[in-house]
Amino acid sequence: MNTAIRIEVMPARLGDCLLVECARESGQPWRMLVDGGPPGTWPRLEQKLKRLEPHERHIDVAVVTHIDSDHIGGMLPFLQSEYAEHVGDYWFNGPKHMPPGSLERGAKQGNSLVAALQGESFGPVLPWNQAFDGGPINTGDEAGFIEVPVPDGPLITVLSPTCKRLAILAREWLGTIEQAKRGPQDDLRSDALEPLDDLAAVAAQETSDDTSAPNGSSIALLLEHRGARVVLGADAFGNVLGAGLAGVAAHRGLQALEVDAFKLPHHASQRNVTEALLEVAPARHYLVSTNGDTFHHPDDAALARVVLTAPDGPTLWFNYRTKRTVRWADTKLCERYGYTARFPEKPETGTVLELPARP
Ligand SMILES: [Zn+2]
Repeated sequence: MNTAIRIEVMPARLGDCLLVECARESGQPWRMLVDGGPPGTWPRLEQKLKRLEPHERHIDVAVVTHIDSDHIGGMLPFLQSEYAEHVGDYWFNGPKHMPPGSLERGAKQGNSLVAALQGESFGPVLPWNQAFDGGPINTGDEAGFIEVPVPDGPLITVLSPTCKRLAILAREWLGTIEQAKRGPQDDLRSDALEPLDDLAAVAAQETSDDTSAPNGSSIALLLEHRGARVVLGADAFGNVLGAGLAGVAAHRGLQALEVDAFKLPHHASQRNVTEALLEVAPARHYLVSTNGDTFHHPDDAALARVVLTAPDGPTLWFNYRTKRTVRWADTKLCERYGYTARFPEKPETGTVLELPARP
């Protein structure tokens, strides 16, 4: 197969840690790291990076999508490692990138991530948001987007966050940093498993929208390379991400933007994965990154919406085999609703999806 984009969803417990590679005609692939998972993910990521030949250890872009412990925990040891200096550009919205006048008083002093990027803790000054002239990664109004073409690499389109979502984060900056340090609090919702026999009823379950300020500030991306397309949804809000995708589709004169793969936002939470979002970017492959810890993700309602909304025969790719995810591989359920479920070959490896080039 002539692979255009390779996506590896690493086992990062309840969080995200993704390695994305875009093949080049010759030489090393263009490489992007998206988040570092919670702190315990680092040894695994380090092992993976160690396996690369020393001259191949270059990461073109490392994205810290938002400030939550399940996304930045593994990035802090990464920034202290020898690999930090092999990154072409870090994409992260820090205090200086918040909209003018929005930042909470006293929030100017950085957190450890900011200190590391600014060379104030353990290494040199690192390249930060250079693709945006050092400025914020901010799509402006809802349905806005920013295109970042990479020479001999992918076309990257930023779909989230909007200016409004950054301003809301800025007003809660200190509390967000504290929360990220503390780590997630246990979700008190029941972890009981409901039957999956009527997916229409499961999908129709009434759900409230995600209101978390850090999630809303997520950097979500569309990556296109050699005809292959993938949406990396971070923990973005369904309406923000959906509006960004609709904006891209409209700009191209399309009703919807068909993609090959969609990393579902917020570990397939029902509060983020809405039908409206799924309709604007129908995919063949859906990636789910979570082991279900703390928040009991993925939500059945989110997966039911995927199965019912996606075009013919989608594949659900899980990076963990858990009591919640294995039910989705039930042969009768798959046959009845016409989809496929896939798991990593071994528990300690991630899920790897290779997308072919298209004419
Ligand atoms: Zn998360």
